[in-house]
Amino acid sequence: MLQRTRKAIILVSLLLFPVTLNYFSPYVSFDGAMNGLVSGSLILFGMLFLSGVFLGRAWCGWACPMAGLSEYALSVNGKSVNTKRLRKIRLVIFTIWFGGIIVMFIKSGGIKGIAPLHMTENVISVDEPVKYIVYFMVLLLFTVLTFALGKRGACHSICWMSPFHLLDVAIPGRWLQTGKKAQAASA
Ligand code: SF4
Repeated sequence: MLQRTRKAIILVSLLLFPVTLNYFSPYVSFDGAMNGLVSGSLILFGMLFLSGVFLGRAWCGWACPMAGLSEYALSVNGKSVNTKRLRKIRLVIFTIWFGGIIVMFIKSGGIKGIAPLHMTENVISVDEPVKYIVYFMVLLLFTVLTFALGKRGACHSICWMSPFHLLDVAIPGRWLQTGKKAQAASA
């Protein structure tokens, strides 16, 4: 029952991705930093960091839209991936991106404000047809990598969010995880 509930939640999360896309966007947070603004995606990344402390990697098993995509891609390619090798790629991406955000905040004179709806003024991320281009590009990237590499392949190789879980030291929410699947998501 727990597994079915989890799968239903991540499927809904995947279907809502056109609404939530910007709140996971590495670009929106970078653009916000260029203007000295803490964007919605940066706030969400901060919450991911905290959730890592209190709920372990539950996000990866229970809520992330890409968890939904990865779950349903398992039937196409479910082979295990070399997580150690892919982790290096992911950490390089994270270091360049997050380092860039810090540099942009410094260049713009520090944090000037909080703007949860930065670049998402209508709340909904894909609020005009042209924005489907980014939406489908992200979906295509995650789908191709997951099909090509295997189980959670895109998560292991390019996810810029998973390093925020590096401090998943607390145990209280471990039961929320899906055993090996959630562990594998951001190992
Ligand atoms: S590793 Fe990243 S993309 Fe994959 S489920 Fe976790 S947060 Fe989402």
